[in-house]
Amino acid sequence: MKKFQSVRGMRDILPNETKSYRDLESKLMCSANQFGFKEIKTPILEDTNLFIKSIGGGTDIVDKEMYSFVDSKKNSISMRPEGTASCARALVEHGLNESINKIWYSGPFFRHERPQKGRYRQFHQFGVEFIGVNSYEADFEIISLANNIWSNLNLNPRLTINSIGDIKDRKNYKEVLLEYLVKYKNDLTESEKHKLENNPLRLLDTKNKNLKKILEDAPKISTYLSKESKLHFEKLLESLDNSNIKYLKDENLVRGLDYYNRTVFEYLDDTENTQNTICAGGRYDYLFETLCDKKIPALGFAIGIERLIEYADFSNENKDTINFYMIVLDVKDHLYSQEIAHLIRGISKQFIVSNSYNYKNLKSQLKKADKLSADYCVIIGNEESKKNTCQLKNMSSGQQENIHIDKLKNYIKDKIL
Ligand code: ATP
Ligand code: MG
Repeated sequence: MKKFQSVRGMRDILPNETKSYRDLESKLMCSANQFGFKEIKTPILEDTNLFIKSIGGGTDIVDKEMYSFVDSKKNSISMRPEGTASCARALVEHGLNESINKIWYSGPFFRHERPQKGRYRQFHQFGVEFIGVNSYEADFEIISLANNIWSNLNLNPRLTINSIGDIKDRKNYKEVLLEYLVKYKNDLTESEKHKLENNPLRLLDTKNKNLKKILEDAPKISTYLSKESKLHFEKLLESLDNSNIKYLKDENLVRGLDYYNRTVFEYLDDTENTQNTICAGGRYDYLFETLCDKKIPALGFAIGIERLIEYADFSNENKDTINFYMIVLDVKDHLYSQEIAHLIRGISKQFIVSNSYNYKNLKSQLKKADKLSADYCVIIGNEESKKNTCQLKNMSSGQQENIHIDKLKNYIKDKIL
């Protein structure tokens, strides 16, 4: 018989991992809320043109990585590869783009990339978007929020930062960069040659050592920044310095999406992993122009949840539940045990109560309870059910007490909660 498997690059998140995802999301959400961001949920599917227009043709995402299909009405639809374009579309559609707006989102995204550690075809991002403020203070706030998140998670990833200027600055820079790189055309790989023709800036963040060497003497973007772009960047760096936020300026940092301008940044984990960018973002003052003909300043970042979880092990985070395991020695006492389970669940949301459904001898059931990491066992034998009592066994100390059902609630409240 054919055994089904999940689609390549798409992972099941199993019950032993879901808690880490949920706890992490709630911490991220808490930081974003504290900075005044509110949640938005947009659909998984969007008009393919939304991504072509915003992210841009010639980018890896649009050219190679989108899951697109034509629906029965012959519309081209795509599964969202990232969140910013959808957020901007939603804000414009609902007229929420006119004033300052701060939003966050969290959910799955889809890219048809080669699966490897830290790179999946369905992955999760938590992102924030800050719309309506063009000055560097907004860039500072966004980076402060990211830093607040890392400190809440006890992490300390490295911030790298660059300014890629405005469209005009970049156009001038592209020309000189191209002029420089064309001389080395024969040393480039096929895909590098393709990038050279379509989007030479994307060659700057190469991992290829040969190209890195060639780029050492290439003209630098900082020389081509306009006065305004330069001032914006300097003011931002000054604020970071004054707040003791450490960063590394990296002239070769560019982003894989067309809509970015001025500030771009990434946070890298300190492992040797190749996929070690756990958060990426920047300013995108031109995106709204492509969607509503109005220039609306905006910026944001997205955190890759899978990479964050691989970087920092959240699985042993403080346990906030107490597990009870019901051991019933005779099936006739099943309902009596359910009554007790119901009573315990009613005392606190922290209490998890499960049943053994196995009326074998006590020893084997206690072994099972241990395996399931039960904190307490509630044992019900013939004597107990007859006298309306139960045995409550503390699994770490081994101590066991016989308690009447009428006293159980107060006993648990006093001794366990
Ligand atoms: P990369 O450098 O890995 O290609 P990117 O520039 O394509 O990343 P963004 O579009 O900026 O990434 O997405 C923000 C974050 O989302 C990344 O920094 C990363 O943590 C995460 N991410 C992106 N693509 C994937 C993927 N295929 N699988 C898992 N996480 C991903
Ligand atoms: Mg990518």
